[in-house]
Amino acid sequence: MYYLINVSLFITSFILMEFAAWFAHKYIMHGFLWWLHEDHHSGKYHIFQKNDSFALFFAIPSWLCIMLGLMWGNDGSVWFGAGIAAYGVTYFFVHEVIIHQRIKWFRNIKHPYFLALRRAHKVHHKKLTKEGCECFGMLIVPMKYFRESFKKA
Ligand SMILES: [Zn+2]
Ligand SMILES: [Zn+2]
Repeated sequence: MYYLINVSLFITSFILMEFAAWFAHKYIMHGFLWWLHEDHHSGKYHIFQKNDSFALFFAIPSWLCIMLGLMWGNDGSVWFGAGIAAYGVTYFFVHEVIIHQRIKWFRNIKHPYFLALRRAHKVHHKKLTKEGCECFGMLIVPMKYFRESFKKA
């Protein structure tokens, strides 16, 4: 029972993070913090982008949940924080490596799930401006992209 609760907290926080990331991307990064996100839409890729600072913002709740959970002996909080961190690591591999190939790993991924994510994210990047973008999610994208790439496969 103990592990069941903790593992479900971990999975819940991972899933919630997809929605939090979608919300933040749509309403904050393409909202009042556009000035931090803009260089990611410029089409020019630098080693570091201002946009990378969002990773630090998202690390704060994870760090707090883990640290305070350890200090107060609340294991649930530690697992919840670990779920946020796991999402961050996944986001890094999917967004920076698989989609944008900022590091040249896994370049020949052919799995239709990842091809759909890449396609949807490229559609997001079609616009270089704050307004008019679509596909703000990362691991969950509109069904039509999954259908397309699973049909091709
Ligand atoms: Zn964007
Ligand atoms: Zn991107």
